Order: sequence, then structure tokens, then C-alpha cells
Amino acid sequence: MNASVPLNPVDLIQLIKSNNLPVIIFGASTVGEVLSHHLQEQGIVVTAFTENQTHKADQLFCGIEVIHTSKLQEQFKDANFIISAADIEDVIHQLNELGFYHTHAAGTLIQEIDLEKIMYSAPVDFVEFAVSACITCHDSFLSPDTVSLRSVDIMVTEKCSLKCTDCSNLMQYFKEPVHYQLDEMLQSVETLCASVDSIHEFRVIGGEPLMNKNVYGVIEKLSNIDKVKRVVIYTNGSIPINMKYIDILQNSKVILMITSYGDLSKNLSKMESVCDEYNITYHTRPAQGWTDSSKISQHHRDTKAQNDVFQSCCAKSLYTLSEGELHRCPFSANAARLGAIPDYKSDYINLLDSSIASSDNKKHMQKFTSNMTEALSACDFCNGRPLDDPQITPGIQTKDILDYTRIRT
Ligand code: SF4
Ligand code: SF4
Repeated sequence: MNASVPLNPVDLIQLIKSNNLPVIIFGASTVGEVLSHHLQEQGIVVTAFTENQTHKADQLFCGIEVIHTSKLQEQFKDANFIISAADIEDVIHQLNELGFYHTHAAGTLIQEIDLEKIMYSAPVDFVEFAVSACITCHDSFLSPDTVSLRSVDIMVTEKCSLKCTDCSNLMQYFKEPVHYQLDEMLQSVETLCASVDSIHEFRVIGGEPLMNKNVYGVIEKLSNIDKVKRVVIYTNGSIPINMKYIDILQNSKVILMITSYGDLSKNLSKMESVCDEYNITYHTRPAQGWTDSSKISQHHRDTKAQNDVFQSCCAKSLYTLSEGELHRCPFSANAARLGAIPDYKSDYINLLDSSIASSDNKKHMQKFTSNMTEALSACDFCNGRPLDDPQITPGIQTKDILDYTRIRT
């Protein structure tokens, strides 16, 4: 049975019980925790969690062993994999490559759960956020005729208050970083939203998004669009919230995702206090899980090698909106902005091109987002981001603007 076959929750539980295979949850995270409680309530024993992230493997999660995906074949001939990760299509592809075909969508099982009944390890509003992301993404995967995007990043600035040597958004290379203009950002948001059925999560990013005063106008606009379900602002905790716009952050769709870089996140506690006082949803987590994905260097791969890199890339559906261009991933968007790679027009959709009719935009979007096999031209300049890439030390700072040409090998 494959997760692309939609089942109702009762039938899916029956199926899992009836084939007597071990039950493994893919994803040792918030949704995985919710799912493991739910399966226990249904009388299903969870044998293990599995994870691509090495820092989560070889330890217990919810009292259950977490096995790294690279060790699955050693330990299991077959199993029921219930996928709690939102990027279900990539995960199914990975499991199929490993020879596992009993894959099921957690989104089908967790639709009706009362999330307030159990105290989970994360705050309830974050649990709701994570669960609804999983449900939307899995529903969208099971309904291929709709254009529902799990997540779109909107770049609001190239400026950052930190300078991380391994920033996967390539901010360390911008010599003259700029803030993006409000009008252009709003126009491209409108065109994009007219071309899709829903966007589960619009991620407002930079650089450090709170450095651009226009960020609040973008957040307000996104919060008022029905098709946008959540607006998530990614901040490094170094820039204070502008109290003039506090009401914009109080919208129930908005969540502040604060990455803690220790002492460098010098406004972190103040930011958390403001969020507590004004009832703004936020979640703080340490910088972690980084991989080496910021090098720019042409590899001259053949088409097959190129497609392999794309297919195994965990960032290929991290849509990134940058100055009116919708790219498949942050690398494509930012390497193009830097001028580090040629302007490959087939790698993005120009949402500010008024000569394209809106009906064509929708068709174009469907084609653009359904491609899971053919590499972008930009991929030849990228190391790729396979799901099991080794991790690197996050957040190392540099004083200099780095020169990507010196990094080429
Ligand atoms: S904080 Fe670091 S990783 Fe985040 S945008 Fe700035 S430079 Fe990049
Ligand atoms: S350029 Fe290709 S390989 Fe690199 S992150 Fe984007 S989709 Fe992945």
C-alpha cells in the first residue's frame, strides 16, 4: 500500500493492524509525538521512529528508539512507515529507494485529534501549527489536481545583523545588500496567491527580516489573504520588535520563529517577553541541523547526475519569492540575485511580468510545482541538499563579506 492511495482514518488503522508489520514513524518531531500518542490510543505499538537528522538518531523520543534512516535496511526487512514529515513526497521517494513500500500519510490519521487533551512537549499553539502543516501538505499530496504549496519563503531583505559563514540563503556573499521594496513584494504576493489554491505557510525571511521596516506591511498583507494559512517570521532574535506594529503580529495566523544564536541573539528575552505580554505566538529553538549548502561552484554534471542531485534534494520545494521571481529553492533565488549563476529563466516564474495572463500563470504554476524529477539549471552550481547530508557547526560568524569565487574548487 502506498500513501498516494487515500484512505479514511478507520480503514488506515485497520490496514496497519492487519499486516502485522512493525510500525515506524518517520519524523521524531512534534507531529511524530502527536502521532505516537494517537497510535497508542488506537492499540498500535510503535516500534521506532526514524530520522534523517543525525542529531536526533540513536536516542529515545517519547520513550521510543530513533533509528537513523541509513540503518533501516540493516534492522527491518519490511515495516509500516507512517510519515509525519510535511514533505511526504520526498520521504516516500527515499523510502522506496531503500526498498520500503508500506508508506502511509500521518495527515490522514491526525485530522480529528483533540490537541488539548494531552500536554505535549511543545506549546499547544505550536503543536496546532505543526499538525495543520502536516495535514495540509498530506491532503495536497493526495489531491494532485490542486496547487497547494506547503511553504513559500518571501525574501524581504538581503541585510542581516549576523554574518554566518554557512548561511544557506547565501547572505554572507552580498557585498551591497538591499531591502526589498514594499510595492513589488505586495504585487508578487497577490499574483502568486491568484495562481494557487492555497499556501500553508508563508515564511518571511531575509537576512534578518525585522531589519526592513517594510516587513510589517508584508506580514499584514499575507495575514489578510484567505489562501495563506500561516505567516511565519524567521528571526535571529537580535532586532527588537517595532512596537508601533505590534497589532500586526497579534493576528492569529502569525507565528514568530526565533532561532537562538546564544549571546548573538541579544534581544531574544525581550522579544519573548513582548510576545508573552501581547499574546503573540512564538517558538524559540537553537540554531541546529545545518548542512554544507552554501558553496557555489559549477560541477559540470551530466543530465542524469544532475537529476539525481535534484531528486534527492530536500530543498527542491522550498519555493522562494525574491524580487517578483518565484524560484524552486533559496539557492536558485539567491545565487541568481548575486549574479553568481546565469539568469536561467526556466528556473523561475516572473510574477511581475504583466504580459502573462493570470490563467496562464496558474497553468505555469501547476507545471512548475509538479516537477519532481528534472533538475534546475542552478543545480549544477550547487552541492545539493540530500536528506541525510552530514551536519556542520551552525552559526559560525565572519567579520568579512565572503567571496564565493574563492570558495570554488
Ligand atoms: S542569521 Fe545567519 S543564517 Fe540567518 S539569515 Fe542571517 S546570516 Fe543567514
Ligand atoms: S539548486 Fe537544486 S540541488 Fe541546489 S538546493 Fe536548489 S533544488 Fe536543491
